[in-house]
Amino acid sequence: MKKEILYLVIPCYNEEAVLKETAKRLDVKINDLIKKKMISDKSRVVFVNDGSKDKTWEIIKELHTQNHLFSGLNLSRNRGHQNALLAGLMTVKEYADMVISMDADLQDDINVIDQFIKEYYNGSDIVYGVRSKRAKDTFFKKFTAEGFYKFMQKMGVDIVYNHADYRLMSKRALEGLSEFKEVNLFLRGIVPLIGFQSSVVEYERNERFAGESKYPLKKMLSFAFDGITSFSIKPIRFILFLGIFMMSVSVAILIYSLVVKFLGNTVSGWTFIVCSIWLLGGIQMLSLGVIGEYIGKIYSETKARPRYIVKEFLNK
Ligand code: UDP
Ligand code: MG
Repeated sequence: MKKEILYLVIPCYNEEAVLKETAKRLDVKINDLIKKKMISDKSRVVFVNDGSKDKTWEIIKELHTQNHLFSGLNLSRNRGHQNALLAGLMTVKEYADMVISMDADLQDDINVIDQFIKEYYNGSDIVYGVRSKRAKDTFFKKFTAEGFYKFMQKMGVDIVYNHADYRLMSKRALEGLSEFKEVNLFLRGIVPLIGFQSSVVEYERNERFAGESKYPLKKMLSFAFDGITSFSIKPIRFILFLGIFMMSVSVAILIYSLVVKFLGNTVSGWTFIVCSIWLLGGIQMLSLGVIGEYIGKIYSETKARPRYIVKEFLNK
């Protein structure tokens, strides 16, 4: 087997509670892979510090000085998980033949890395890690997350079911990714658009071993909303159909009110009018909101601001 260079990219935001343990486990894992001659000894683990407010960067620097396996990429400020991940991927694509992205809390089983690499040597440019079960997630997380994937698919977004950001990408897949310039990042929607041969590896997701989730409900919802509005114009089309439907209903109402007028019962019907006003007002507000959301997207895309700014990169 050829020994190619593997880089792991791990975005970290306030992860002081987990970093040392994560580093310990990855050290064992990577050295094992090097011993099995699956990867080159130039392979690295890159922690991306996403503007953490705690000691995360100090710990990364310490790990880097103690062990050359660990590299650190420091961003100028907090830019969110997706941007931090992109920053890491774009920085390491010069050095690596293949790159695996994962979370700092090692909820994604690191023992399937072997399979990822095998699939890569078998010709896959992209290997998706897919959660087989969600036995250890809370009912709420499981329900909302799986509902999200189903809804996305209904909305016509081509995403891999139950795949988050645990994946392997080859150098040329990363070159492909660098061609996507969008600011509203939703990586798991973009990656399938790159093309190339891909495969899927199943794994069981664990609980976080320390620290707490950086994805509270509010962030999850806004992430889901970004995913839908960045990849699908179905909501806009839905408004069009709603408009057509409302038009036909109002023709019926026009006829009805004329009939009522000629029968001379005009005072009654107050309830009906009040209901109509509220319903129509509501639908209009909703529609404006959806359109506004897309205009907002256009606004931020036209500014084409940088998605991240690198402060320093420690790699040796
Ligand atoms: N993360 C980040 N920037 C942020 C929020 C999160 O880089 O603004 C990282 C975080 O450190 C972790 C990964 O994104 O490595 C996933 O976060 P978390 O494990 O808290 O999410 P969950 O697994 O609960 O969905
Ligand atoms: Mg997690």
